[in-house]
Amino acid sequence: MKLERTEAIVLHTWPSRERDKMVVFLTPDHGKVKGWAYGARGIRSRFGAALEPLAKIRVGYAERESEEAVRIESAELIRSLFPAQQNLVSSIAATYIAETVDTFASSGDPAELIYRLLDRSTEALLGDVAVQSVVAYVEVWMLRLAGIFPSTKNCMQCGEPMGRPLRFDVKQEGFICESCATRDAFVISNDVADELVAIGSTPVAEYASRAISPATIFEVRSLAGSIRRSFLGHELKSFEVLASVIAR
Ligand SMILES: [Zn+2]
Repeated sequence: MKLERTEAIVLHTWPSRERDKMVVFLTPDHGKVKGWAYGARGIRSRFGAALEPLAKIRVGYAERESEEAVRIESAELIRSLFPAQQNLVSSIAATYIAETVDTFASSGDPAELIYRLLDRSTEALLGDVAVQSVVAYVEVWMLRLAGIFPSTKNCMQCGEPMGRPLRFDVKQEGFICESCATRDAFVISNDVADELVAIGSTPVAEYASRAISPATIFEVRSLAGSIRRSFLGHELKSFEVLASVIAR
């Protein structure tokens, strides 16, 4: 049996048996980890409020080679997302961000950059920021870190550097230069292209505190959504729920 102690962020929990919880959390060094927290649903649980979705924790767990799930021995709360979760839009955005990361992060491999993205973006939700900008930021960066977001610098067809406006080829799911573009390519507005650059070069809290028009952020999200769906072959479960609370 091996004992690990690490910082982590809880992605997802579900009740099991009468008093236990199954918890999926993201760690910088071991990616996604699934573990049992025995007695976590008891009234005087030693885990307190540490094992709630999007809580940043210091966790101790024991690994057994033959078993898929670890045993969570201890969990101390570093940062709770509870204040942000009191707001409906932030709360559903947090669920959506957790599902996004849960979908793309893998188990066992180091996930330092994905961990940092999740850490900074959930922290940003606690501040006075535009929630949609945080969501768009995570959507674009998650695809980048997963190696799925196509290059905006060179044409996917001929490799030549591209100028503005950018053109996105729907069939080939990539950016294409003016001379290679067919009628499957649509022009990306320069406002949207500017946001892609800003997302790539700005920390999330700073990015989400700038004023951006709702129409532009919607277009950024549509582009990321189209790339994500074509990769996954389906939409994320919480996508529609988030769309419906944002539309209100
Ligand atoms: Zn080209």
